[in-house]
Amino acid sequence: MSLPQSTNPSFWTRTAVAAAPGKALQEDIRRDVTVIGAGITGLRAALELASSGASVALLDAHEPGWGASGRTGGQVNPLAHAVPEKIIAQLGNTFGPRMLESYVNSGNELFNLIAEHQLDCDAVQNGWIRGAHCTGAIKELEAMHKGWSEYGLDISFTQGQALRELSGSDAYKTATVVKSGGCIQPLSYSRELARVATEQGAEIYSCSPALSVTPDNRQWQVSTPSGKVTSDWVLFCTNGYTDDTLKGLKQTIVPLISVQAVTRPLSDAEYNAILPQGHTLSDTRRVIYYCRKDNHNRLLFGSLGMSEQCNTADRKRLHKAISHVFPQFSATDLDVYWGGRLAFTPEVLPHLHEPAPGILAGLGYNGRGVAMGTVMGRILAERVQGKAPEDLAIPTTGFKAFPFHGMHRLGVYSAIKYYEARDAIDTRIG
Ligand SMILES: Cc1cc2nc3c(=O)[nH]c(=O)nc-3n(C[C@H](O)[C@H](O)[C@H](O)COP(=O)(O)OP(=O)(O)OC[C@H]3O[C@@H](n4cnc5c(N)ncnc54)[C@H](O)[C@@H]3O)c2cc1C
Repeated sequence: MSLPQSTNPSFWTRTAVAAAPGKALQEDIRRDVTVIGAGITGLRAALELASSGASVALLDAHEPGWGASGRTGGQVNPLAHAVPEKIIAQLGNTFGPRMLESYVNSGNELFNLIAEHQLDCDAVQNGWIRGAHCTGAIKELEAMHKGWSEYGLDISFTQGQALRELSGSDAYKTATVVKSGGCIQPLSYSRELARVATEQGAEIYSCSPALSVTPDNRQWQVSTPSGKVTSDWVLFCTNGYTDDTLKGLKQTIVPLISVQAVTRPLSDAEYNAILPQGHTLSDTRRVIYYCRKDNHNRLLFGSLGMSEQCNTADRKRLHKAISHVFPQFSATDLDVYWGGRLAFTPEVLPHLHEPAPGILAGLGYNGRGVAMGTVMGRILAERVQGKAPEDLAIPTTGFKAFPFHGMHRLGVYSAIKYYEARDAIDTRIG
């Protein structure tokens, strides 16, 4: 059966390595593990499990990399959103330091995985610049620098002319640089993970949405429109695209929309003037600006948005943003626009759930899931392989509905408007 063409709207579809031909699940099968969601998280879990000899069926409603993993900025950002002190206060003295360690090592873990399996995904580990959008934000950078250095992150400060030379922008006067950060072609990364997982024996089924999960004689049966998988373990790796298949999971996160645009192909002079040493760049705005080069001849620029189609208001925000950071570009230089969903959690930390024996869910990376999804996939596999919850790097928590979840659309809309206004005031004050 030939499957429908990808509806992933991102620019990455134009430059990614080819996808393997897809097939849908068409029969009833028994496997050790069913993974639901073929993004970075599910693919890493499937790779680790298949490599250790488990039989794995990986189901996606669309195809590998269709979700955020094939649309993201592809920035590898090995840092949480809060200072270590706060994370330890949230998670305690056992899981707090483990969570910090997971973040600190996440960049190297991803790039080592790419090297180990020779994944063809334009990987560049030249560091991540995070710019202060106003004077007040420098304090935040200082606290992050101090706290995370103590936990072993290679993070330094850069300012003034040195920062200008590193970024190619006058928009930021002070920034931190995390050396283990970098970037990948994220759809290629997803497809390459799918390739090596398949080589290890994992079976990937595209256009196979999981519709229900029901107990079946101490195992679990996952039903899709044209086949079922019965297995000991079911792993939910659905992040911002989580639906109601597993009751209560969707309410634990709020899907946020991130939007991006890519420039027309740039001349060598234009291309080399931006981020000349191959860094990625993001900033301290609440409604973040982030950008990177595609490692060929274009610049990608993103922010938060309101619509996955990147509607007119979102496009205007991107136009304003790019001409603030790189005034040499304006609306007419932007070529392709798209958006996707990421998952936001109340604690701004990833969640690992085990709501029933044999069911796991790993999600909620708050916009930093390229590296942390890679880590979470490994942690999910470790749990299946027998590691006890108390020995994992991320604590296993029960489902807790996001406050006012039913009103999240309105809440996100209002929050973006409000925070955008505050970011603008910050920048005006200096
Ligand atoms: C525009 C954008 C830019 C971003 N930029 C960055 C960045 O630069 N750096 C960074 O670290 N993070 C970034 N993020 C976040 C990051 O992309 C995500 O955190 C990460 O890709 C999540 O991976 P995942 O595998 O958990 O989920 P996803 O890649 O979203 O995959 C979930 C999959 O689950 C499938 N699915 C859902 N329900 C079902 C079901 N019932 N049955 C079968 N399949 C199902 C979907 O089809 C989808 O393929 C960005 C996100 C977006 C949207």
